[in-house]
Amino acid sequence: MQLNEKATQLAEEGHVIYNLSAGQLPIKPPQEFIEKLQQQLNFLKSYQYSPVAGVTELRKKVLSHHKAERNLGDLSELDVLISNGSKQSIYIALGAVLDPGDEVVLLAPYWVSYPQMVKFWAGVPVSVKSNVFDAYSPSLEDIGRLFTPRTKAIIINSPNNPSGTHYTEEWMKGFAALMKEHPDIWILSDEVYSDLSYFDPKPSYFYQYDTELLNRTIAFGAISKCLAATGLRIGWTIAPKNAITAMGKIQSQTTSGASALIQRALVDFDFNLIDKFLSPAKAHLRRSANVVRSKLRESDLHNVWYQSHSAFYFMLDFSRTPVFLRYSAADPQGDFSKEICQELLEKEGVALVPGTDFGQPNSARLSLTMEEVPFNEAMTRLVKFLLDK
Ligand code: PLP
Repeated sequence: MQLNEKATQLAEEGHVIYNLSAGQLPIKPPQEFIEKLQQQLNFLKSYQYSPVAGVTELRKKVLSHHKAERNLGDLSELDVLISNGSKQSIYIALGAVLDPGDEVVLLAPYWVSYPQMVKFWAGVPVSVKSNVFDAYSPSLEDIGRLFTPRTKAIIINSPNNPSGTHYTEEWMKGFAALMKEHPDIWILSDEVYSDLSYFDPKPSYFYQYDTELLNRTIAFGAISKCLAATGLRIGWTIAPKNAITAMGKIQSQTTSGASALIQRALVDFDFNLIDKFLSPAKAHLRRSANVVRSKLRESDLHNVWYQSHSAFYFMLDFSRTPVFLRYSAADPQGDFSKEICQELLEKEGVALVPGTDFGQPNSARLSLTMEEVPFNEAMTRLVKFLLDK
């Protein structure tokens, strides 16, 4: 937030700013969806309270789409709750499963809101590390070592914000086997970027390899990223009935049902159009990811590169770049993410999100969504800065 304010201030003063901090696609939702929204404007019901758990037809539709996409067959014991964005879904899921003092395992780098949400419910976040050499996939052994009798849940996010990768099939199979050994732990699977992978293979999920794990899996999806509709605030949870019922109680006494208008438009919208809609955006992300690769490689910054394949992001590891030496000389153990991002913004006009709050010290997240020409220029400036001892 501070850096964003600084970026805005510099832009107002007439500086050219390359803001690579975006967490959303810079496009409108598909025309077919906009038309469905317009049609729903004529109905009284679009303006009235929706059922707390969501419009029934939409819940059914989300569930069947999820089962079809993940080849889950007929697992009728699963249920759906529609909420005001998946951020709310995750928040109330944690409320439903946590007692004070319960531990929740997070896989760094992780989405910034997870540890804060866990703490809201008096839980204790514990995290396992990863690094650029394993393309930010923490090892299963490290995860297993973190489990204690107090571990109530683990959150995984694949494709991942901020790393822009998804865990491999092999990792997911291993994860399924690991979780099988720990039958009392809830698995929260944040899948909001599942449609946004721009290199094959596509993301897969642990429960596809062992459907018994669905008995304690709480999966999240949303329209924010796949329909480029972050402002419309619709997300959902797919989980066993007992979890959905508990979550519904929290939702009922806090926000009530999510927007009737948007839910009703979604009922009429064909979810199979998502792929076609995202295709140009994915081509753009693929091209930006290739620019990152060529710029880093041309500049001998091989150590910083890994293959990103999904979501909008790339995680930049400052600790393997020359610029870092200036900072680390005085304090080799310090985290200088914010200071380095600040200097980058002031010197080169490039705004990134510091890695500290993602649980990844001495790094920053860059977004791949910017248009080609300014993005190339931003990368040129970024690389020049990283090489500046
Ligand atoms: N999960 C992840 C990993 C995210 O990056 C975001 C948004 O940036 C969300 C969940 C929340 O999305 P929304 O509340 O817009 O559905």
